[in-house]
Amino acid sequence: SQIHLLVLTLLIIITLLTPITTNTSQPWDILSDNNFAGKLTTASSSVESAATDFGHVTKIIPSAVLNPSSVEDITDLIKLSFDSQSSFPLAARGHGHSLRGQAAAKNGVVVNMRSMVNGDRGIKVSRTGLYADVDSAWLWIEVLNKTLELGLTPVSWTDYLYLTVGGTLSNGGISGQTFRYGPQISNVLEMDVITGKGEIATCSKDMNSDIFFAALGGLGQFGIITRARIKLELAPKRVKWLRFLYTDFSEFTNDQERLISETDGLDFLEGSVMLDHGPPDNWRSTYYPPSDHLKIVSMVKRHRVIYCLEVVKYYDETSQRTVNEEMEELSESLKYVRGFMYERDVTYIDFLNRVRTGELKLKSKGQWDLPHPWLNLFVPKSQISKFDDGVFKGIIPRNNITTGPLLVYPMNRNKWNDRMSTVIPEEDVFYAVGFLRSADFNNWEDYEKENMEVLKFCEDAKMGVIQYLPYYSSQEGWVRHFGPRWNIFVERKYRYDPKMILSPGQNIFQ
Ligand code: FAD
Repeated sequence: SQIHLLVLTLLIIITLLTPITTNTSQPWDILSDNNFAGKLTTASSSVESAATDFGHVTKIIPSAVLNPSSVEDITDLIKLSFDSQSSFPLAARGHGHSLRGQAAAKNGVVVNMRSMVNGDRGIKVSRTGLYADVDSAWLWIEVLNKTLELGLTPVSWTDYLYLTVGGTLSNGGISGQTFRYGPQISNVLEMDVITGKGEIATCSKDMNSDIFFAALGGLGQFGIITRARIKLELAPKRVKWLRFLYTDFSEFTNDQERLISETDGLDFLEGSVMLDHGPPDNWRSTYYPPSDHLKIVSMVKRHRVIYCLEVVKYYDETSQRTVNEEMEELSESLKYVRGFMYERDVTYIDFLNRVRTGELKLKSKGQWDLPHPWLNLFVPKSQISKFDDGVFKGIIPRNNITTGPLLVYPMNRNKWNDRMSTVIPEEDVFYAVGFLRSADFNNWEDYEKENMEVLKFCEDAKMGVIQYLPYYSSQEGWVRHFGPRWNIFVERKYRYDPKMILSPGQNIFQ
């Protein structure tokens, strides 16, 4: 780390010695001389839609939007900024499902990656190599549909599939498969990345490995990913999808931790917290039989907070006979409240795409484009019980405002790679905790205050909790977020984006 410090100091000195330009021209002055064959637009409809995101709590207006049709368009734009004396910021925007303007570019250019998608071009599946080469602008649902045509599938998912490959690879990409297969960033074999100097690097763990690992979970800071080679496996046909309700937190987490330690067991494991707030189903999934709603609601009312373990086992013709026996054996071994086990049997694609139904329902009621003051955390296993006492049983019921899905499920650290940029807790097992709230335009700040209260509780108790999909308004927060890995992050920034052009909406480098 002394070498890191030395390199960092040298980089800072070089930057300080570089003459500061007095050129006062605006990004648009340079851009207007380079019309990119009409692909660059300042039309208010384009600029307005690039100014907001799924979070609906920020509005950050760019100067222009680039609708690239090729990798060269993006390379040209980055080079233009890099070579200019008054560089302008630019950000790749995948599907704009960020929460706090992370894909925005104030007074700069938003690169609308989705304009690269053109029919079936942009995905090549290798059956023999068991991988797919995918343009980063593809949505995961599109990748799934395409690979399923050949009986293949990626192995690691997010709960919701209408996110781009480039967007989730810039964060991590987690879901109930992560304990077994690792996050999506652990299931990439190769990528093409355009750095902040406009250079294209084809990279993998063995070739240009530093930029490969930097870009994985790199929050868009080191380059724009244009292609990713995703690992595939044979696709299962159907899934057994079970839920078990618990009133005791330690029995719930003991069962979760045991199940994720079994190497050849389940294919998916998540968990959630149910509070005394209305029906047991929510927009994330409609699951429970309506005839049981009252019974579940009265259990929640009695205990105020209960927990739901959710597990899945994939199967097809060859494993059809054994899967029922396996799930029965598993149920018997668990410490859930007897009488509160639920089972569904659905197709593989219906399971993976389970959140879509809720999305369409909310959209039809005009309730999708609302503020989403979400908070996502990684909590070390040793702290999860303290977190339960202080947050699930403390702050949340006391404030009595949280509605919406509240996720809590463990994952294995050994499925992540420390060279990737995503920061995770040091312990072998840690929990993903997600508060996925929908708010109103006039009350979202109350939820934000609650988020702050949760974060302060964790900080005061020195729990080593780390934000996932992090948001900080200034560099100070980021320095704390990265901890001992901050120096490496900064070094990589100077190496791949020395003019600090890329993804300014993350507020890491000004
Ligand atoms: P954007 O919001 O467009 O971009 C996100 C960041 O990545 C920005 O900084 C942007 O500049 C950068 N970026 C985008 N494309 C590229 C690229 N090609 N190269 C380099 N940088 C790029 N996450 C999970 O892990 N698991 C979940 O289950 C999950 N569920 C979600 C459900 C919903 C309804 C929503 C809204 C989000 C969910 N997320 C989940 C979070 C999601 O993974 C991230 O917000 C992701 O970044 C969104 O992808 P996007 O294509 O919309 O990215």
